[in-house]
Amino acid sequence: MSEQRVKVAIAGGGIAGLALAAGLAKKPHLDVHVYESVPAYRDVGAGLALHLNGIKAMSLIGPEVRQAYADKALSLGDEEREMATEVILAHGRFRGQKVAELGRAKGRKTVSRADLLDGFLALIPPGRVSFGRRLVGIEERRSGEHRVRLTFEDGTEAAADCLLGADGIHSVTRGYLLGPDHPAAAPVNHDGWQIYRTMVPTEEAVKQIDPRWTTTVPILLGPRGHVNCIPLNKNTRLSAGVAVRGAVFSAVDGSAPPLDPALFTEYSEEAQKIVRMVAKDTSASWTAADHDHAPFYARGRVAMFGDAAHAALPFAGNGAAQALEDAAVLDRLFAHVDSPKQIAAALEAFDAVRRPRSQAVVDLARKFGRVYAYAEEGRMHEDPARMKQFFGEMAAFTNEFDVAAQSERAYNLFVTDYQRGQSEEQDI
Ligand code: FAD
Repeated sequence: MSEQRVKVAIAGGGIAGLALAAGLAKKPHLDVHVYESVPAYRDVGAGLALHLNGIKAMSLIGPEVRQAYADKALSLGDEEREMATEVILAHGRFRGQKVAELGRAKGRKTVSRADLLDGFLALIPPGRVSFGRRLVGIEERRSGEHRVRLTFEDGTEAAADCLLGADGIHSVTRGYLLGPDHPAAAPVNHDGWQIYRTMVPTEEAVKQIDPRWTTTVPILLGPRGHVNCIPLNKNTRLSAGVAVRGAVFSAVDGSAPPLDPALFTEYSEEAQKIVRMVAKDTSASWTAADHDHAPFYARGRVAMFGDAAHAALPFAGNGAAQALEDAAVLDRLFAHVDSPKQIAAALEAFDAVRRPRSQAVVDLARKFGRVYAYAEEGRMHEDPARMKQFFGEMAAFTNEFDVAAQSERAYNLFVTDYQRGQSEEQDI
């Protein structure tokens, strides 16, 4: 091991950045620092459901990381009641037919993003995370120590041996790596998705919709998009949403049109009731987008990971899990990076192993959205048996993946590559 610690800068203290920092901070040969733009975390959205692959990735980084999640996760409903995501056709010839029942389990959990981040933060020694530091500039030097120079919005600067950018869907690191004019640099909303969402006390919701949809997780499908409910906080609150595909945004300011229940009159009555409830208050709505494929996730000593590298539409529910898979692989690799000269080889191995899988999940989430909206080329909604098979196979692809083997593959690639000397940087 070289005398000097390898200095790792992480931009973005979201799920990806903090999970990785929790792992790297335990390694004595590394000096890790996270730069997060916001002054403090605030909760956004309804809460994350972490699939099995995400939970396995946390365990790989460390049992304490997995435990931080377990301590913060809340049951959707009653601990003893079994709950599944029920995917049901709400429009057309097969209206009412269930095409998938995903993740049936007792005590299904979600975790608020802010709570999970607090849990991860508690695992990182004080002084290693700086808030209110928005990365605005990256510069690489070709020689000398700490070759990656960072500039922040507040005028401060930092230097490190490498930058791992986990700065989210509008990533500055991504813009730097790909170039601001690259077609995949910025997120896109190819299918015109607008997600209308409301939060209602469950006792109010049962007066307006079928009470059955307050104790399970339905996704009701049709050609305008899908309708969805998620019980929260042990069944005291209901998050209800309508994801509209092909929304026409204002040419003047890009704003979304109001949710119009008239577009859903051919949906089942139970779906229409949910749409009408959501239309009363759409203050929690947002516009979805994802990333077209980046040709690489790393170059030299700079890499991007998490949503910065592969933001996906939320329909496969696996974005945070993919961010955690990235963090697990980087954690495994950096356990063996004890000289700055090894960084490029480690990041190449990360790219080789993580890019194909995470980009497949981006494609999959897009496909989920199209299948949900009866817009998939194969017209799957006309063949519920095929739809069932599709959902089964896709759930297996995301959840039942061997996350540990992925990290080993990355490590083996790194070692082979580095030993061959192919990626070792030379001092100038
Ligand atoms: P983020 O969580 O976006 O974190 C990026 C961080 O970087 C932020 O803290 C940000 O403040 C900071 N940052 C940004 N720019 C800069 C900068 N220039 N300098 C410094 N810091 C910066 N995934 C699931 O697995 N399951 C789900 O159920 C699920 N549900 C979702 C529901 C919704 C409504 C949405 C929007 C997403 C959902 N996802 C889900 C996806 C999941 O939230 C993301 O994939 C995950 O948060 C990605 O983590 P990240 O750390 O890469 O990015």
